[in-house]
Amino acid sequence: MGDATNPVASIFRPSQALSKVGPSAITRITAGTAELRRQGRQIASMHLGEPDFMTPENIVEAAIRAMRAGDTHYTALDGTPEVKSAVQEKFSRENGVHFEREEIVVTSGAKMLLFSAFFATLNPGDEVILPAPYWGSYGDIVEMMGARAVVLPTHAQDGFKLRAEDLERAITPNTRWLLINSPSNPSGAVYRKADYEPILEVIERHPHVWFMIDDMYEHIIFHNEPFVTPAQLRPDLRGRILTINGVSKAYAMTGWRIGYAGGPAPLINAIKAVLSQSTSCPCSIAQAAAAEALRGPQNSVRRYLGEYRARRDLVMAELSHCPGLKTTEPDGTFYAFVDWRPLIGTSTPRGKTLTDDDDLCQYFLQDCGVSIVPGMAFGNHGFFRISFASSEADLRLGMARIREGCAALI
Ligand code: PLP
Repeated sequence: MGDATNPVASIFRPSQALSKVGPSAITRITAGTAELRRQGRQIASMHLGEPDFMTPENIVEAAIRAMRAGDTHYTALDGTPEVKSAVQEKFSRENGVHFEREEIVVTSGAKMLLFSAFFATLNPGDEVILPAPYWGSYGDIVEMMGARAVVLPTHAQDGFKLRAEDLERAITPNTRWLLINSPSNPSGAVYRKADYEPILEVIERHPHVWFMIDDMYEHIIFHNEPFVTPAQLRPDLRGRILTINGVSKAYAMTGWRIGYAGGPAPLINAIKAVLSQSTSCPCSIAQAAAAEALRGPQNSVRRYLGEYRARRDLVMAELSHCPGLKTTEPDGTFYAFVDWRPLIGTSTPRGKTLTDDDDLCQYFLQDCGVSIVPGMAFGNHGFFRISFASSEADLRLGMARIREGCAALI
């Protein structure tokens, strides 16, 4: 839209690629939170998907050593030999999958991997199947490529996991990718071997469909079964599987911007072609830090998991006292995906009728002082996402405000 009062805005025309993509719901909530804080309001933050812990000291030290050693120049496009070896070892050690070096790429964050993998493979008219709820960036990136996000609803009674028969029905000659994220942002669902097996059988029957798997929250799992990833379960399908992961969530390294993937060499080469004309290599210092994260002591990962478990239990206990809210206990991640549909149509003390997720989130933010994310940002109306990566103090305050906010609705 042109802005007649601003001569630059009135002549600015965004590209077609951007025409379907607006600012994300999280960006809007973040801006709203910042504005209220600027006005002196105390807001309990429960919207951000980032650990509140410090990056472990051994990782920070590795970065300092790298800087002092002069590792401050361009590196190989797909990562230094050191970080690629660390990724290779990680995949073998933790996932039982051996990738050759030319099957590995390290990028400036996992989001850049998703972007470059889609840029490298999608054409207008292509379809990407996204089981909902899904991380909102997936849909936006697919749409930016001129392709179509085919959103497949999943259900709370199935633990928000995709049913093989629904996948089978959704596949068309235009399907390029199925994308699954496990543990899932925002539902906390974790796919187990028995969940993946029928899905992989469908993938096997449709050789034109590739499988992108986002394992970003691999280390944040609360049940006792070992984590599984599709490339490990079906080595025979590895020629069509891209396994994405990163250090952001596991090691509290969101700002370092390192993601990595293993997949078939022709796809990895295509991703590298995109990187060569966009980010080039990831930050040399962050690569040294990521190598230490993957190879060094893993006790911080275990400590964070203990903290997340305690925070999850706190949030679940509080939610059970909130009238009108329902949720499934998350098996993984630091998110709870909350069903507020029984409250649709109620009114706030200030007389506003709540009809959609945005209404509810604005009510919680503006009137109650707690920030959460609308479910429609993840493809599911009638829900909202709570992040329990926030501090315990914020969580206690935020949950008390949510409880009072729900009780005040009429
Ligand atoms: N995948 C999922 C499911 C995420 O939730 C996020 C970040 O929120 C990412 C990928 C992006 O990770 P990175 O920080 O490595 O870009």
